[in-house]
Amino acid sequence: MKLSALLLFCAASVAQEMNVRTLIFESESSENYVELTPQKPLDLSSFTLCLRVATELPQEDREIILFAYRTQDHDELNLWREFDGRIGLYLRSSGEAAFFTVPALGPMQTHLCVTWESSSGATAVFVDGKKSLTKIYKKSHTVVSGGRVIIGQDPDSYLGDFNSVQSLVGEISDINLWSYVLPDSFIKQMATQTLSPACSGDVIDWKLVNLQIIGNVAHITRNV
Ligand code: CA
Ligand code: CA
Repeated sequence: MKLSALLLFCAASVAQEMNVRTLIFESESSENYVELTPQKPLDLSSFTLCLRVATELPQEDREIILFAYRTQDHDELNLWREFDGRIGLYLRSSGEAAFFTVPALGPMQTHLCVTWESSSGATAVFVDGKKSLTKIYKKSHTVVSGGRVIIGQDPDSYLGDFNSVQSLVGEISDINLWSYVLPDSFIKQMATQTLSPACSGDVIDWKLVNLQIIGNVAHITRNV
């Protein structure tokens, strides 16, 4: 769908009540996770990744994996809450990341998005619709297909070597991935739920995406 068509579609769905699936990870583990089957392969020269997350894990104490896309040999696209509370975006990297100092994630639900665009390397984070400063990261890079998307654990092999102290404990939902950079104003409207959740990604569409639950993860539906 073209961006203009997407915006029109979303504009038509303003303020609709909807049922939204949500995932609850009740305890720290190295076993529990959810695998998502994206709507299309992750061949990406730009993207917008959004989700809603809440966690009671203490700040400045522990890193948390928020999104993991792993190919055979690499963490291809990973999003973290770092030890110090920053958000870290890792594209095929074993340490080099784009880090963003943002308001801390916490026990109240946060709408979090990250955008990245290969031709300029421009990347930014949005917390509840407010944009961070723009960083330059992985210019001319491409995210490649052939991997698997999981929520709840950071794989260090394909697909295992999970570490419990990196796992997600909390609630996560509304995980959408677009193959392009959404306008700032669109992200802001999603955050305030005047557009979302009727609008969803072309690569991962949270309304449709198949969820395979491994271990103890609660999968419920909320009316928003
Ligand atoms: Ca790890
Ligand atoms: Ca890893």
